[in-house]
Amino acid sequence: MRIKTAEIQAVTGRRDQYPPDTMKEIAFAGRSNVGKSSLLNLLTGRKKLAKVSGSPGKTRTINFYLINNEFRIVDLPGYGYAKVAKTMSEDWGRMMDEYFQHREGLVKVCQLVDIRHEPSKLDIQMYEYLKANGLDGLVVATKADKISRNEMQRNLARIRKSLGMRKDDYLIPVSALKKTGHEELLQAMEDVLAAADEAAPAEQSDS
Ligand code: GDP
Repeated sequence: MRIKTAEIQAVTGRRDQYPPDTMKEIAFAGRSNVGKSSLLNLLTGRKKLAKVSGSPGKTRTINFYLINNEFRIVDLPGYGYAKVAKTMSEDWGRMMDEYFQHREGLVKVCQLVDIRHEPSKLDIQMYEYLKANGLDGLVVATKADKISRNEMQRNLARIRKSLGMRKDDYLIPVSALKKTGHEELLQAMEDVLAAADEAAPAEQSDS
């Protein structure tokens, strides 16, 4: 897949301001500062679609991007920033539940983890939540430029193990800095969208 057009459709924390639930969506989740904005900009070829932040933990909105007039990428608020007050993380949870529980078009959540580290408790919790909702199976390991070739396989295996991923689940190393891995991710997204079509084909007229 090539992303030809990407437009911001909504930036909101409120369900009544989401775009209509009429299209397939792939959401992106990860800890604040994991490199989500940089990855989304790389994927869409737009330098400033998502804001790359110097100060993590600020974004408290769900951002909907319309891609190729065909499906949406949904940029979920980052989690786990230490300085975010408890009340704010409660808001975060509510916002996420509200999105996850009521979104017909949501076909998959791409979870981002930092390739350098063992997934954190929050990463694991997030992934368990995705499993419970049948939205797991697509993980991106970010900042792949920060480790050596030798470390790569070892770290990927560690991520697979900590998250309890299945053999055929996608785990894709990417580097927004070196611009690597995005083609593989776009292919995985295409596969996931196609699989959703097979599972629930568009309504056909029965005349
Ligand atoms: P977000 O909070 O998850 O949206 O993360 P950002 O995209 O804002 O990135 C957080 C920080 O990590 C920024 O300083 C980025 O420049 C840096 N960063 C993001 N992606 C990469 C990458 O692939 N390689 C390296 N070395 N740094 C990255």
